[in-house]
Amino acid sequence: MFEIPKNHPRYWSLKERHLIIEGMHKKIVAEAGLIAHGRGEAFDYLLGEETPQYAYLQEEVAVAALLLSEYPIISVNGNVAVLCPKELVQLGELTNAKLEVNLFYRTTEREINIKNVLVTAGATKVLGVDLGTRAATLPEISHNRRIVDPEGIFKADTVFVPLEDGDRTMALRKMGKTVICVDLNPLSRTAVWGSITIVNHVRRATQEMVVMAEKMRKLPREQLKSIIENYDNNYMLQESVKFICQRLSTMAKKKLIEG
Ligand code: ATP
Ligand code: MG
Repeated sequence: MFEIPKNHPRYWSLKERHLIIEGMHKKIVAEAGLIAHGRGEAFDYLLGEETPQYAYLQEEVAVAALLLSEYPIISVNGNVAVLCPKELVQLGELTNAKLEVNLFYRTTEREINIKNVLVTAGATKVLGVDLGTRAATLPEISHNRRIVDPEGIFKADTVFVPLEDGDRTMALRKMGKTVICVDLNPLSRTAVWGSITIVNHVRRATQEMVVMAEKMRKLPREQLKSIIENYDNNYMLQESVKFICQRLSTMAKKKLIEG
């Protein structure tokens, strides 16, 4: 793999770009996954490539919702499988959530490759692979994109979908599920349709959620309930848009490079 010097100012961004490209060659990431990643990168630039304060609250509420849920599922696609597989496995263990491979561009080859990545990262069980006639379907969604595991997303009460498409998020909400999503674009349909939207990079978000889950799993249920009680996703999306506007406005008033 292409070596990036650790002291490069944009080390993570470059490293991830290469992970995604390599993932595409290994048939883990879909070709369209590269474009989706590029859009994410652009929004991350606007955030300053670090977690803003508002996102910690979104992440805390998301962890509380996972811990309170009866049957939580973590949905895994190609991009997150290469960006944060260990974090997803750890989060699953800490919150008792099962992992399910769930693809927009579904092929059995990619399902198996993603499952193998998760197993290498420590997963003992992975749903959503080689479903054949066992497949369940999401209503109102066309063809391959509607396929889910009957023992996973289909019967889940809470679905964590780091990186999801807008109409599938909508379909899951219409089925009455709590949908937790991560999306760097606070204006996407996924972000707007999510029950709890984390506007942050998926690697940082999942790393931070693992640390939170380690502490929060010891809390009494009543305390977890109080964390999510007054949560207003719409308000928090507005906070994220305000953060971007304020950051850009500050930057517009100062010299960008000190010469
Ligand atoms: P939607 O279908 O929700 O309206 P979209 O069609 O614009 O959104 P998709 O291609 O469906 O976007 O999904 C890509 C989304 O994932 C983009 O909004 C992008 O900002 C976001 N994204 C990409 N990479 C990351 C990442 N590493 N962390 C968080 N979000 C990301
Ligand atoms: Mg989309």
